[in-house]
Amino acid sequence: MNPLKAMPGWKDKILFTPGPLTTSRTVKQALLRDLGSRDTEFIETVRFIRRRLLELGHVGDAGYEAVLMQGSGTFGIEAVVSSTIPPDGKLLVIINGAYGHRIAKITSILKIGVVKLEYPEDSCPDLEQIEETLKHDPAITHVAVVHCETTTGIMNPVGEIGGIVHRAGRVYFVDAMSSFGAVPMDLARCHIDYLVSSANKCIEGVPGFSFILARKEPFLKTEGYARSLSLDLFGQWKGLESNGQFRFTPPTHAILAFQQALLELEAEGGVEGRAARYQKNYQTLTAGMSGMGFQEYLPRDRQGYIITSYLYPEHPKFSFEEFYRRLNQRDQVIYPGKVSNANCFRIGNIGRIFEADIRTLLAAIREVIDEMGVVL
Ligand SMILES: *Cc1c(COP(=O)(O)O)cnc(C)c1O
Repeated sequence: MNPLKAMPGWKDKILFTPGPLTTSRTVKQALLRDLGSRDTEFIETVRFIRRRLLELGHVGDAGYEAVLMQGSGTFGIEAVVSSTIPPDGKLLVIINGAYGHRIAKITSILKIGVVKLEYPEDSCPDLEQIEETLKHDPAITHVAVVHCETTTGIMNPVGEIGGIVHRAGRVYFVDAMSSFGAVPMDLARCHIDYLVSSANKCIEGVPGFSFILARKEPFLKTEGYARSLSLDLFGQWKGLESNGQFRFTPPTHAILAFQQALLELEAEGGVEGRAARYQKNYQTLTAGMSGMGFQEYLPRDRQGYIITSYLYPEHPKFSFEEFYRRLNQRDQVIYPGKVSNANCFRIGNIGRIFEADIRTLLAAIREVIDEMGVVL
């Protein structure tokens, strides 16, 4: 490791991954400061971020609270599961990918009652079955689903599921980790009580914390439910509300970078502007990959524009490790697959990447498959 590599003029590899992502130079520059956790400038920054996150979810003045939580996205999910479900509560998890399974695993590790509705990774959940399950199991108090299942890139119908959960009088939790900030989202209209996302996904900040948007009405009743001190969501919120401070060391640098990332999101035209760039990335990628003969795992009508899973080419000379290594040598970082019943790799469209970057990636893929002698 040569720290001098970080000097100006040196360019990092481009990350076509589900996070951490490529960030702008100005986002990285914003964190080159040391602020104390009690510094008024830092407290103001946290306040600005919390307000702006609510606005991004269209609930700036609709009875919601924004809470920042140290750690990666999973810590935010664990904070919601561990501290908003009452002692006798039970969570229904709707699963069509690895991140849905992760929510169920967190719940069972916490020894909280859990029911799973599992669907194939290329299919959307069965809405009628969700409705029936809620009708026949009155013990279920909460329902959780992933918005964009990053395993495949499938988009789940969080609004329709929200309607069902709301009519059934249950609390609704959405993991919008890989979509928030790039897919328009109105929490109140989707009846979402808790939404989790993190700093280093579509808002294009650096890793270090997750954030939770919580509807006040159920949230304010959760005091004392926490099964963990550090992940106590109510406790964290109380700390932020009382003196604007975190209970434990905040990721000050990541928060400074995030403030800059939010300003850059706004400059790009907000969520709609960012969505347009990612959609363009997605269309360029899809056209180029199909043109070369690569096959997508998902049918197009279920495929979101966040990340795409591609089936391994059925050619004896294809090896993912070799493909990955040769792309990496060309500064192009793709991602392994996570689908359980098919061999896939993934290419993300998110982060500070543009159509020109996608074209560079496509050209590198063309070169690499030719070099490997893979015929598509
Ligand atoms: C990235 C991601 C997470 C959280 O992952 P971390 O590695 O903990 O940041 C959770 N759910 C989904 C859908 C994700 O894409």
